[in-house]
Order: sequence, then C-alpha cells, then structure tokens
Amino acid sequence: MRIALSACLAGWPVRYDGSSKLTRAVQELAAKTEAVCVCPETSADLPVPRPPAEQRGNRVWLKNGLDVTADFERGSQCALATVKEFGATLAVLKARSPSCGVHEIYDGTYSGKVISGEGVFARRLEEEGICVVTEKTVESVKPSVEHPVALVLGTGLGHLARLVKPVRRIDYRDIDGFPIDAQPVDGHKFEATIGTIDDVPVVVYPGRVHLYQGYSAAEVTALVQHAHHLGCRDIIFAGATGSVPGNAGTGLGIITDQINLTGTNPLAEWAGLKNVKTPFVDMNDAYSPYLRTLARGVADDLGITVEEGIFAGLLGPNFETPAEVNMLRAMNVSYAGVSTALEVIMARALGMNVLGLTLAANPAGARGTTHKSVLEAAKRYADDFERLVRGILRLL
Ligand code: SF4
Repeated sequence: MRIALSACLAGWPVRYDGSSKLTRAVQELAAKTEAVCVCPETSADLPVPRPPAEQRGNRVWLKNGLDVTADFERGSQCALATVKEFGATLAVLKARSPSCGVHEIYDGTYSGKVISGEGVFARRLEEEGICVVTEKTVESVKPSVEHPVALVLGTGLGHLARLVKPVRRIDYRDIDGFPIDAQPVDGHKFEATIGTIDDVPVVVYPGRVHLYQGYSAAEVTALVQHAHHLGCRDIIFAGATGSVPGNAGTGLGIITDQINLTGTNPLAEWAGLKNVKTPFVDMNDAYSPYLRTLARGVADDLGITVEEGIFAGLLGPNFETPAEVNMLRAMNVSYAGVSTALEVIMARALGMNVLGLTLAANPAGARGTTHKSVLEAAKRYADDFERLVRGILRLL
C-alpha cells in the first residue's frame, strides 16, 4: 500500500519556524507501507523559517500581511503531482494547517481558534479521490491492550476466533444487556475471546443476535456497548449478505455506507443507554474512510478481489422478493443483510471507528438460497477473509 505524508510529520524541518511535528503512530504506519513525504509550502519555494500562514476567506496570508494564495496553490499542485505519480491512495496530513488541514483549519486570526475548512493541498487531494486524514485519525485508530480492536463476526465467519491467542473468555450471558436465553444459530458461538491476533490486541465476538429472532434493538447492540466498555475504539463488523445484481457481485466486499431499513433504531430506545451522549448522531463517514482505504490497500496488495458498496440493513429473516431487489438496486444498494446496521449506529453513537466487511454469499433474492448455502459460500471465502482481516490488523 502506498501513502503520502506531510513531510513535517515524518520529522522533516519544513514548518514555518523550521521545526517538525514527528508523530510516532504515523511513522509506524509509514514503516508498514510505502510512503512519500511532501510539503506543499516548501514545494512553492517558501523559505524556512517563514512567518506563519492562515486562511481567511478564500485567500492565504502570512502573518506579516503578505498574500501567498498563489504560492500555496502552486505548491499544492506540485505536491499533488508527486503524490499521483507515486500512486498513493491515502494521505496523512498535519492537522489544521492552511495547506494540509483536513475538515478544520485555523481561522485567520492567529489566535489558535479553529473553524471548519480544508487546507489548500487537502482540498486538491480530495478532488482527486485520495483519502485524506490527519495524524489524529492515525493515532485514534492505534490499538493497544487498553484499546483492543473489536471484531464482531456473523454467519460462517466465526472461524476467525480460532486465530486469537486467548487471554480471557467471556460467556455472552455475562454481558450486560445481552439476552441470557439466546441460543446461537448455526455458524455462531456465544463466547467472546480477549487476546491477540498476530500480536494485535483484539476482542472477538464470534456470533450475534438479530432483530428477526425477536430481540430488541438494545439487545442486538449489547455487544457493541460491551466492546466500548472494554476500551475498544475500533470495531470491525463482518457478516454474510446478499449482493444486489447489477450493483455488486458475490464475494468479499467493503461497506462504504448504509441504509437502515429495519424499521427500528437502538437510539430510539436511548433512555438509559450508557455512554451515549446524544441520540442525534452524525452519520457522515459512519464507515471510517481511513479504515476502508487501509482495507482496500491490503486487498490490492494481497491480490484479493474485493468490491465496495452501500449496505442495506433489513429486518429479515426471509430472503428478498424480486420487487425488493429492484427497489434496493434503484437505491444504489450493493449488499443487503439482517445484521450490522443497528450495530454501526450504536458504534458511531459511542464514537467508535467502524469498518464493515461483508461476504456476499449469494445474489439477493436468488432462488434456492438457504442458510446452508450461505455457510458453504462462507467456507469458500474463508481463506481470503482471514488474510484480509490479518492484513488490516497488521496495518493498525
Ligand atoms: S505545508 Fe504541510 S508538510 Fe509542509 S510544513 Fe505545513 S503542514 Fe507540514
């Protein structure tokens, strides 16, 4: 996988005062990938040291009052050309900079106040479809013993639990809010394992309950609350789905967004929900663009065929009618399934970073689809799924 970095995050002394902002998490990511360092400001021959710059309106000014908008544009174009030639799909940029800032920048008063906005270079990268994040995102996704990665596995994918070097096991019946009478359906096991996969701290939940079994939205999302309680900041959901013909084929997929068609929502039962500050959750980028880009990079590096698309969460349990498949296709849905949607809402309400992986076991609504045929398809893709998840964990 190829990434681009703000040169100052890699320790290059290119900041306005001649310093750098060496960031260990970014350095570790760079060591596991192929990285190119760029500095749009020095690419425009702005000297080091130089007065600090901030954006005001759509112009960029040095603190001494000099308008350097043209220099910033020229430097950004130059750095962009380097990034494109290198083939980077991800850029990790210095937060809040007038060049490199992503989603927030200093407000032009040199007072340390930040406002919504993009740096000049960040904007150019986004226009090219390159995923841009700041060093804060890389740091926030870094797993540790205190912040393990949660893996919630669905039908036929629970075998990943055997990769865990276990430290502790937790019976689901001991998890707050999980229905104690629940029995696993075929392909599930109701025991979480805390441990490591390839030295990365994880908590694996190899099974879940569904709305169609009669459980509430709160019960369906109890595992997410538990993962958050354990300190997990990153959560990977994996489940079997049907692919919507015309929008996606069968096989592995990365979920880019979702439509909740279940008719319910865990936040509608929010009175008494622990650690949820507000039910009015921003669902932009609900599936972390950073994690999605890492997943795509790993798949490409390993030669694993993976599609991407929007997921629709349905109540189930019956498979889709032809009319429903037509509706999903018109809604630009690629994958349809009976889990994940509510869990993702809960994870976002708890501020967790979400990655959604799916195994499209069959075309949605295909004749002859059974729970057994879904399990058989899961077996066919088990190796690729395992390699993909291990590759993603390695990059975190
Ligand atoms: S332009 Fe970007 S890379 Fe260069 S010093 Fe500023 S934040 Fe760092």
